[in-house]
Amino acid sequence: MELDDPYRELGLAPGCSDAEVKAAWRRLSARWHPDRNSSPQALRKIQRINRALEMIRSARDEPQAQADDPAPDAEPSPIEHTIRLTLEDVVAGCVREVRGEVVEDCADCEGSGLQLQATTCSVCRGTGRIRQRLLFAWISPSVECTACQGHGETRQGCTTCAASGKAPPGKYRCRVRVAPGARAGDVLDVTARVQGSRQRTLALRVRVVLQPHEFFTAGADGTLKCELPVDGFAWMANRWIEVPTPRGLQQMRLRRGHLNYRIRNAGLPWTGEAAAADCIVTVVPLFPDELSPEQEAAIDRLVASNSGAAGTPAGDRMAAWNRVVSGWRDRRR
Ligand SMILES: [Zn+2]
Ligand SMILES: [Zn+2]
Repeated sequence: MELDDPYRELGLAPGCSDAEVKAAWRRLSARWHPDRNSSPQALRKIQRINRALEMIRSARDEPQAQADDPAPDAEPSPIEHTIRLTLEDVVAGCVREVRGEVVEDCADCEGSGLQLQATTCSVCRGTGRIRQRLLFAWISPSVECTACQGHGETRQGCTTCAASGKAPPGKYRCRVRVAPGARAGDVLDVTARVQGSRQRTLALRVRVVLQPHEFFTAGADGTLKCELPVDGFAWMANRWIEVPTPRGLQQMRLRRGHLNYRIRNAGLPWTGEAAAADCIVTVVPLFPDELSPEQEAAIDRLVASNSGAAGTPAGDRMAAWNRVVSGWRDRRR
């Protein structure tokens, strides 16, 4: 299978790092793995993702002849920034401002701190040599002028930058729009304008970091996990409870005997898609340490009513287990 653009397949730009390639591949394969994704296009998609990784790897492993002599007008590498998003930011999308200061070379002297045009050396008046003043002037030798190293001309300090070679620091700020569905490690390439300069722009590379959440943990495929204490009796009674999702509270019905619940579409969204990953809720039924006399009596009634419940799946399973254990005990005698 040949892909036109393996980077686009992984949602990346060609200049990305090896780590970004790996992270994108891991994220996409977690999402599209046929073991977890039952959609009909999952198998095809995972093949494309794997092929993209292969193509990028083999292209990068090839020795690159041009790598040693970078192009003279190579773009300056982008300035790195990090933004920290909450899971709620990931769900709703957000706008973040990044700002900073950039120091670049003085344009007038190209960073040298010296004027580009040389002027005649004032010490030797352009001759490059000076006569040493000795007592006997008629035998005084001439030596090289130290001010201009014998060139006869010197370059004065640049007045624009006071000979520092640096332009005044340029402040920049940029609003970064993050679409819903961002993931940790995502990279956004944006352009910032330097304030008060003639159309000077900077390339910024903004990396997404996810803040830990109070009670959700996010998987690479966007699945959220959450552990939820519930009233043990409400759990036995199959009651409705309210479950937090990043979009707010949602009703969920408890099923006695079940601890793990999957709420479809309640996890993190995928960029540009209406569907979202799932949220997996693990309930922890809590029972009181001390029971009131009425509760004790109610439980006694439940036990009594259940002990002879043959014909029910639970009763049959208990009976089968009891037969296994008594057979095992008999063989030990
Ligand atoms: Zn000189
Ligand atoms: Zn200068």
